[in-house]
Amino acid sequence: MSLDVLAIAAHPDDIEQTCGGTLIRMAEMGYRTGALDLTAGDMGTRGSPEQRVAESEAAAKHLLLRWRGNLHFPDARLENDLAARMTLARKIRELRPRVVILPYWQARHPDHYRAGEMGYEACFLAGLKKLDESTEPHRPFKILYSSVYADVKPSFVVDIGAQFERRMAALLSYASQYGETGAGSDLFPQEAEIRERLGAIARFYGNQIGVKYGEPFVVKEAMQIDDIVAMPVRSI
Ligand SMILES: [Zn+2]
Repeated sequence: MSLDVLAIAAHPDDIEQTCGGTLIRMAEMGYRTGALDLTAGDMGTRGSPEQRVAESEAAAKHLLLRWRGNLHFPDARLENDLAARMTLARKIRELRPRVVILPYWQARHPDHYRAGEMGYEACFLAGLKKLDESTEPHRPFKILYSSVYADVKPSFVVDIGAQFERRMAALLSYASQYGETGAGSDLFPQEAEIRERLGAIARFYGNQIGVKYGEPFVVKEAMQIDDIVAMPVRSI
């Protein structure tokens, strides 16, 4: 297995909300994409972990993923300890992604920023030869931080206008979370509300590059441009 892009996130349905459109777009371009959820959402008000994993597999089809996995780390109490980092690093060696998408390093939910931190450290560990002599070292080339819920200026925005509806279908695969009935239904947004909210967020980021819908990302390193004449996004 050798993936072009691997998205890592804390909970099933995080990827659908933050970088699902980009994953769909990359798959449509012929790249091998994957998603690794660190927990199965066992602390969630609605749905069991088994249900969330089954829903994430249905969502994976809409996202056109080649691979999706779940590490079943403890939800809402994700710990960046050595055992967890090693498990994650081994998975990265197995999947050999060139690009890894992580949650932005600041967030309201501790699992989200911890997933970003663990993901970064596991990407580093995965490149160490002596980490585990029985597996080949692999260090991803590029790390992108998905910043949709962070109050920061994106380094770049991906146009997901053609992928937005498919991403919405992926998210709505989580019937236990976004269905119309069930326990705590006043707590969870109904389908129309979620569509309007995610649409507004995607419009906000799309607007920053002059398209209808977009997904924002932050990179820590500078971006290289070879042709300044062909640069997109109008300045004035
Ligand atoms: Zn989450």
